[in-house]
Amino acid sequence: MSQPMIAILGAGQLGRMLGLAAARMGVACRFLDPAESPPAGVVGEVVGAEFDDRKAIDVLLRGAAPLTIEFENVPAAAVEYAARSVATYPSAAALRVTQCRASEKRVFAECGVPTNRTAAWDPGSQPADELRAAIDAIGLPVVVKTQYNGYDGKFQWVLRSESDLEKFLGDTHRLPLIVEEFVPFWRELSIIGARRPGGQTAFYPLVENTHAGGILRRTVAPAPKVTPELQARAEGYARALMERLGYVGVMALELFEAGTPGSGVLLANEIAPRVHNSGHWTIEGARTSQFENHVRAILDLPLGETAAVGSCVMVNLIGVEPDRAAVLAIPGASYHWYGKAVRAGRKVGHVTVWGDDAGVVAERAAAVERLAGS
Ligand code: ADP
Repeated sequence: MSQPMIAILGAGQLGRMLGLAAARMGVACRFLDPAESPPAGVVGEVVGAEFDDRKAIDVLLRGAAPLTIEFENVPAAAVEYAARSVATYPSAAALRVTQCRASEKRVFAECGVPTNRTAAWDPGSQPADELRAAIDAIGLPVVVKTQYNGYDGKFQWVLRSESDLEKFLGDTHRLPLIVEEFVPFWRELSIIGARRPGGQTAFYPLVENTHAGGILRRTVAPAPKVTPELQARAEGYARALMERLGYVGVMALELFEAGTPGSGVLLANEIAPRVHNSGHWTIEGARTSQFENHVRAILDLPLGETAAVGSCVMVNLIGVEPDRAAVLAIPGASYHWYGKAVRAGRKVGHVTVWGDDAGVVAERAAAVERLAGS
């Protein structure tokens, strides 16, 4: 039997972990990425070129199908071009929705998925005073974000006071923006699911995420204090979005649990049309990892079990390389390194602490965080 090969746009750490999961199943991966020695280079061939280089896409697709992505800001036109010859998961249409915060919010509304109040503003067609009107209509505090190209909390402004607002409006804004009601959430959750072309879905347990400076720091899996009803509602939202987008593969839906602890009020924040940082714990903590389930879904193979086995805390390594031996001396700790140069604010690896007892795992994760300076 010949070895199947998947084509992947992007060769970062998500590509590396996809490649590792695929290799175990006898599936090869070929990547396209403009970066010099990207993380996925250790698990498959990398075509070094810009994402919109059509000749390079042809090379990427030689003997490979389907095409998938591990970085959501790849040009949708590149996916559209690839779709002339192979199936692409996600489709260019689904990617266009998730690349634009305003379209994403519209799709939430269409699917009956609750979200915070928002207003879009486009400098191409609207004068600057309409930006102020949009902010006034929502009311401070607000979070303003660029409609496109945001990641890890970049290109966002939190406006709490009149003086924040004056300063913000004093600058010239040339990019389409979205103004969002600031959500006084008590915690952030995410749900990760996989869907096959025929519509079969599988969902992981809700997880609890802690961000600082817009970057994910820690994921607790499964999230504590989740009722079966809350889990079912989150799955229902994610399933509705997947169906609306004709989505195939692994998708993450980031949620705010608003109001008071235990309120059960879920508001959708955003969709990640790919494997997600809040699902890294599944490598050690679930029967089937998100990476393997993505490979299975896009090859139209039966999905693997998504139940958690024990408890996990995943700690991101951001701009630090803690001592491997010290980390691995902590029982239940697994060290993941992405092979990237260490720079401030950059995700360079993660540590997952696994165990049977959530309390013990939390203490051990705190020890990892001390070593990682987080
Ligand atoms: P990115 O796409 O850059 O990851 P997000 O929109 O997910 O950006 O925002 C990053 C983080 O900023 C969120 O996880 C949350 O902690 C905070 N945040 C974003 N939007 C809001 C909001 N409307 N209200 C409160 N906090 C927010």
